[in-house]
Amino acid sequence: MDNAVLHIADVNKSFGGLHALSDIDLQVMEGTTHAIIGPNGAGKSTLLNICIGRLAPDSGAVVFNGEVITGKQPYEINQLGVARVFQTPEIFPDLTLLQNVMIPAFARRDGAFRLNGWQMASHQAEIMGQAEHWLEDVGLIGLRNRFAASLSRGDKRRLELAMGLVQHPRLLLLDEPTAGMSRHDTNATIDLLKKIKARGMTKVIIEHDMHVVFSLADRITVLAQGMIIADGRPDEVRGNPVVQEAYLGG
Ligand code: ADP
Ligand code: MG
Repeated sequence: MDNAVLHIADVNKSFGGLHALSDIDLQVMEGTTHAIIGPNGAGKSTLLNICIGRLAPDSGAVVFNGEVITGKQPYEINQLGVARVFQTPEIFPDLTLLQNVMIPAFARRDGAFRLNGWQMASHQAEIMGQAEHWLEDVGLIGLRNRFAASLSRGDKRRLELAMGLVQHPRLLLLDEPTAGMSRHDTNATIDLLKKIKARGMTKVIIEHDMHVVFSLADRITVLAQGMIIADGRPDEVRGNPVVQEAYLGG
């Protein structure tokens, strides 16, 4: 029952004299949507980058599925089952949507991330079928042959989500998935993330928009100036005076 998919254990990180993260310890439980919120500069993206191996902590460790992943390369962590959707979508603008989703689908199958893997492999039809399935799932199947560069901001996020989902991750990390989106696109993204949540996928979502957080989160950790100032169920966090003062009330 109490199965932690991710344990961020006593992580510290400084940039020069700036303590970006101080003694961060938190556990993400299987099947939950865990939101990390906090004002700009609180350390949210730094924490996420440590989880995916883009940054090394000064001390502490990240444990995924019982395995210490600190020190592993981002692609190794990805292959263990951690997928992420970035604050700025990382897609291939000069490829079609279908090709974009086929790349991680091949990576999952072959254990290698090759930009032109889709051109070389013999299982193209099977991989294409998977890519189409996930494009359908995020509502982009009608645009499958468009170049990714031509997409709206909201659709780029959806494309990146399909690129994550096609890998069948054990853990999905999302950094501000609705940042810069219109209210309409935000609501569509909430619906999509609710659908994914209903399938039992474990997610960590970094989010600024309180409407998004309270629509999706089972648990909320509040960061401010690199420290955890609150952690609990949404109703507990919403009523917490420290949080009100540091963040929500401001
Ligand atoms: P958030 O995502 O919560 O807005 P960040 O994790 O991006 O916060 O940043 C936390 C703090 O660390 C900020 O003060 C930011 O300026 C600083 N910071 C982040 N990355 C770097 C870096 N590579 N070099 C120096 N300072 C950084
Ligand atoms: Mg950030």
